[in-house]
Amino acid sequence: MKNYDDIVSLSKEYGINAEYASDEFYPVFRAAAADSRILVLTDENTVRFGAPFAEKLKGYGLSAALYTIPEKEPVADEKTCALVSDKLDGCDYVLAVGAGTLNDIAKYTTFHAGKKCGVLATAASMDGFTSGVTPLIKKGFKITENAQTVSDILIDFDILCGAPKIMTGAGTGDILAKFCCLTDWKMSHFLNGESYNEEAASLMRVALDKCVGNIASIEQCGREGIDALLRALLISGYAMVIAGNSRPASGAEHHMSHFLEMDFLRRGERIPLHGVKVGLGTMVSLKMYKRIAFVPQDFPGKETVAALAESLPEPEWVAGVLSALGCPTRFSEIGVSRDTVRDMLFNCYKIRDRFTIMTLYNRYGLMKDAADELMEQFY
Ligand SMILES: [Zn+2]
Repeated sequence: MKNYDDIVSLSKEYGINAEYASDEFYPVFRAAAADSRILVLTDENTVRFGAPFAEKLKGYGLSAALYTIPEKEPVADEKTCALVSDKLDGCDYVLAVGAGTLNDIAKYTTFHAGKKCGVLATAASMDGFTSGVTPLIKKGFKITENAQTVSDILIDFDILCGAPKIMTGAGTGDILAKFCCLTDWKMSHFLNGESYNEEAASLMRVALDKCVGNIASIEQCGREGIDALLRALLISGYAMVIAGNSRPASGAEHHMSHFLEMDFLRRGERIPLHGVKVGLGTMVSLKMYKRIAFVPQDFPGKETVAALAESLPEPEWVAGVLSALGCPTRFSEIGVSRDTVRDMLFNCYKIRDRFTIMTLYNRYGLMKDAADELMEQFY
C-alpha cells in the first residue's frame, strides 16, 4: 500500500519533486535547476509571487528571467501557448507561478520545446498538477493534448491559504467528486466486470477521507485543510497513473462538466472554474445514487447500486461545504440555461464510453422521472 502520509516520497516515485517552502528556499529544486536557465512564467495576477521568486533565485546564484502573460486571467488556448512558446528560446526550464491554466500552458509548451517545467502552486484549485496530459482550447473546442508532468511542485501555504476562496472551493469540488467517480468505477466493476484497481482506488479514498476529516479547516482555508486538499489533488494524478486510466478521478460528474464546457465554448463565454462545474455535477451524481433505492423500475444490479449509495454523503452536505467556500450550488448561478442542463442530464453520458450512474439512468429509462426532481433541486 502506498504511503499517503509521505507525499514527498510518494511524489518521487512518479518523478516529481514535491517540496514545501522552508527557510532554505526549496533546496532540492535549486540543486536540480542549478545549471538551468529558468523562466518564471506568471500572469498579471500571479506576478506578485513570481517576481520576488525570480529575484530570490538570482540571489542564490541561479539564472532566472521573468515573463508575465499580459492578462489577468489568461486562457489555455493556441494564442496564449504561441505567445509563451516564443519566449522559450533562452531557457531550459519553465516555472509556472499559478494553478490550472498557467500549469497547463507550461506543461504543454515545454513538452513540445523539449524543456522541463515545474510549478509554484498559487491555489489548490484542481487536480491537474501531476497529470501528463493537458486540456487546451483549440479552434473553439476543448481537447486533451499530450504534455509532460511537472518536475517540481513547490508548495507554500502562505500563498495557498491566501488564494481566492472560490479557487479552494473548486479544488474541494474536484476532490469531493471522487466519492462519485470511485463509486461509478466500483459499480461498473460489479455490474459489467470492468477491471478495478484496488490500490489506485484505496489511495484516492484515503486522500479523500483525510480531506473530509479536515473539512472545517478547508472551509477556513487553514493550513491543515489546505495541506490535505493539495495532497489529494496530487494523489489524484498518481492514482490515475496506477490505474492506467482516469477512473479514480473522473466519472459522471466530470462528464456533466465537459458537457457544459462545450456549451460555454459554443457561446464564446468564459468557462467557469473546472472544479466549480464538477462540484455541481457531484451533487447531481450523489442525488442520483441516493434515490436509486426508491425508484419503481427494476433493473439488473439495482440492489448492488443501492448498497453502494448507502456510504455516500448527502448532496446537501456537499452543497454546504461548497457554499462555505463561495462556490455556486445551483447551475443557474453559473450562467447556463435550463434547457442546456436538462439536455446534459439526458445526453452527457454519451461523451465517453464509460459506465457511470448517468449511463445507468439513461440505459434503464430512469432519467424521465428523475429529471424534474434534479432540475428542481440543482437548477
Ligand atoms: Zn477534475
